Amino acid sequence: GRASPPLAALSQVMRLERSRRTAIVFPLQKLERYLVPGTDTARFRLFQPGLAALQRAEALFRSDRGHPIDYVSSAVRMDHAPPPALPEVCFIGRSNVGKSSLIRALFSLAPEVEVRVSKTPGHTKKMNFFKVGKYFTLVDMPGYGYRAPQDFVEMVEAYLQERHNLKRTLLLVDGVVGLQKTDNIAIEMLEEFGIPYVMVLTKIDRASRGVLLKNVLEIQEFVKNNTQGCFPQLFLVSSVEFSGVHLLRCFVAHVTGNLRAVKAS
Ligand code: GDP
Repeated sequence: GRASPPLAALSQVMRLERSRRTAIVFPLQKLERYLVPGTDTARFRLFQPGLAALQRAEALFRSDRGHPIDYVSSAVRMDHAPPPALPEVCFIGRSNVGKSSLIRALFSLAPEVEVRVSKTPGHTKKMNFFKVGKYFTLVDMPGYGYRAPQDFVEMVEAYLQERHNLKRTLLLVDGVVGLQKTDNIAIEMLEEFGIPYVMVLTKIDRASRGVLLKNVLEIQEFVKNNTQGCFPQLFLVSSVEFSGVHLLRCFVAHVTGNLRAVKAS
């Protein structure tokens, strides 16, 4: 298999000096010092696990013979989806938002997992199911474009309505461009069906600090004023630098019921 990239494992991150380590593990906290004094940052720290919880989560994402992590199957229709046997999370977002890169980063300690991408225009988009041992499944949903094709809406709608083992939807937003009009397609669906979800800001290594702050604050305001089902803490990730990836592994482990006690750090 491929070698894991640097900082894919917590043990590598722990060797960094403190401020760099915080930036990788808790990227949102790193931004706090640049906010206007008085900004409400309580929502920045709702999910703030300690090292032990981060390590237990990482173990789930590390495959071995007794704990296989596999691509299971693809489906274009719900009757082709694998049985809903395990708690599940799904990843949804605009095409090019960095969804496959993020899933690859999450699974980087299981290098045999192949995260397929079907980007050929005109090709039928599929839901890809991954199984993480006997603990949970992760679904890569098709990306949506500036015109959400009807088959996308139908597929995702059916999935969100029918999938009773779905514990959380992760809605990816591009950290460079922020929330876009097309993201409302997904947000409206999630809100309408009352599906719990959380927003994940991608490619944060590519955004300047100013742009990142603007997008973070805009999204937090949006979530506060316009949503019911969205977790108030935004997750920031870079699949290149691995910032936020460890925390997101921990959040996924937590929402799928595989990490009961998450002690704060
Ligand atoms: P998808 O269509 O949502 O699956 O998006 P991809 O994962 O294929 O990413 C789209 C483009 O953004 C690719 O060129 C990636 O290399 C790039 N990209 C994805 N994630 C990151 C990131 O965290 N940082 C940077 N700098 N580029 C990224």
